[in-house]
Amino acid sequence: MSDVRVLDQGAGLSALSVGRPASPSGDHLHVMDGDDASLCGRVDAEDLIQVHDLQWRDVPISLRCRVCRAIMQVAAPFAG
Ligand SMILES: [Zn+2]
Repeated sequence: MSDVRVLDQGAGLSALSVGRPASPSGDHLHVMDGDDASLCGRVDAEDLIQVHDLQWRDVPISLRCRVCRAIMQVAAPFAG
């Protein structure tokens, strides 16, 4: 859970970058944290492709990684 440290930064959580897995089986979008891996730790940096011009708060619930969503709800409920 070392990735959670990014949440301590406080500002700008709702504007965290969004990434999609390179794997065809990965159809959910993840929060991309400070080391470019997914916040949930399920996708390594080399397999997570940033979706430009998309912010986490704009991602439909149905497309959100459940683990990333759960972490964000705990750490930053205002971020949607
Ligand atoms: Zn995730």
